[in-house]
Amino acid sequence: MSIDANEPRPHSVLEPVQLSLDDAFQFRCHKDIPCFNQCCRNIDIMLAPYDILRLKRRFDLSSRDFLDRYTRDYPMDGHGMPGLKLATKDGSQECVFLTDEGCSVYEDRPSACRYYALGMMAMRKKDSPGDEDSYFVVKEDHCLGHYEHRTQTVREYRRDQGLEPYDEANREWRRMRAAVSAWNFCSYERHCL
Ligand code: SF4
Ligand code: SF4
Repeated sequence: MSIDANEPRPHSVLEPVQLSLDDAFQFRCHKDIPCFNQCCRNIDIMLAPYDILRLKRRFDLSSRDFLDRYTRDYPMDGHGMPGLKLATKDGSQECVFLTDEGCSVYEDRPSACRYYALGMMAMRKKDSPGDEDSYFVVKEDHCLGHYEHRTQTVREYRRDQGLEPYDEANREWRRMRAAVSAWNFCSYERHCL
């Protein structure tokens, strides 16, 4: 499962419709759906600082021990900016926290898991003083939740998934990440001139 709008997986379809908080979309995920757990069997989940804080507290681990056991490093851009992804089980792409009954850390699951099947990204419009969050529906073949008869607004979905504290706590990190990526892109452009 990957919901970062900047990193769509090859077989995912990011619907080219930008949603605002009060726009509605059709989706429902529940335990009796035939695809239950499918999305957690092939994951590519980027972790934000508050995701790590919630999970390390759940296991009562130090940050170092949590990172060693449950994450892996990856470069966030072509310049080697370090990032962390959720670890998978040995020899598979299945999430380390997946059980037959579902997510074993559900109350503290990362924001990417909470957002799915939405993608979110921050954009700054021309002449605007701050960033604005935009949302997109991510459709993947295995996910049958898009055919369930429930329609909700993005605002309602975010509330139901408990996303407000995650987005609030991670806002500065996302801003910094975007700024570093933009700076790297500018330095690369200057270097090539
Ligand atoms: S943390 Fe939970 S919801 Fe997220 S991928 Fe792992 S098992 Fe699935
Ligand atoms: S409906 Fe989608 S998000 Fe829910 S279990 Fe199925 S694949 Fe995962």
